[in-house]
Amino acid sequence: MTDDRALVAGELRGYRQFELRDDGLYPLVHGDAGPWSGEVEHARCQAGGDHPAPARGCRCGLYAWYLPGAATVALGPASAVVAARGRSVLGDRGFRAAAARIEAVSLPVTARWGPASKRARRMLAERYPSTKVYSSPRRMLADHPPHDVGALGIHPPPDRSRTYRAVLVAVWAAVVVAVYSLVAVPRGRTAELAEQWWPLLLLLAVAWQASLVWLVVRLMALQGSPGPGVGTGGPWKEEAERTTTTGANE
Ligand SMILES: [Zn+2]
Repeated sequence: MTDDRALVAGELRGYRQFELRDDGLYPLVHGDAGPWSGEVEHARCQAGGDHPAPARGCRCGLYAWYLPGAATVALGPASAVVAARGRSVLGDRGFRAAAARIEAVSLPVTARWGPASKRARRMLAERYPSTKVYSSPRRMLADHPPHDVGALGIHPPPDRSRTYRAVLVAVWAAVVVAVYSLVAVPRGRTAELAEQWWPLLLLLAVAWQASLVWLVVRLMALQGSPGPGVGTGGPWKEEAERTTTTGANE
């Protein structure tokens, strides 16, 4: 453990989402516990355990992912970058920490423009003065790239969310372009072509639908896991856990 401590002197960066409300940034799970502190949020065991959070074998602690993917897919909540400190339980894709602060937040789609954006920005400036506010996750991530956790012996699986999104857009666009290009074909020829090529066209249509459904399901699966250790069957592997201490200078 002493080695781990040396490797993560300082803070460990993570990605997660919050619900943006009028009075603060609430965790998606256990929102009834109130919004996160504007300074440093300290974990408490929400599972009713009588131990300091996080604890092995319990689900408590402030969770975040090592890579932004799953934490930036959903459009409803606000995506954020957090900096964890104190004791942390490290999993293969994310961690649970004793304490963390919100380094940066990107406004959700619903609060990106107009009066909603103004209101949100005012609240964030007031309650989270040291948190950087972005209007899109893309810029936030450019300024806050993931930490290399390889030094901790952790190699999180590659982040596929961006690939899925890109492929989804490409598949959708390809068909739209194909359909519009049919307009360029003389009217009589369209029926003729359809008659000649209908088995292929049918196959393409089915393949298109199937790939769209598959991609959407994959994206939904990424969105469906609010955090490591939350819910069952998630990406959090208990056997990959280990305990380390970050922010030794605290
Ligand atoms: Zn607990």
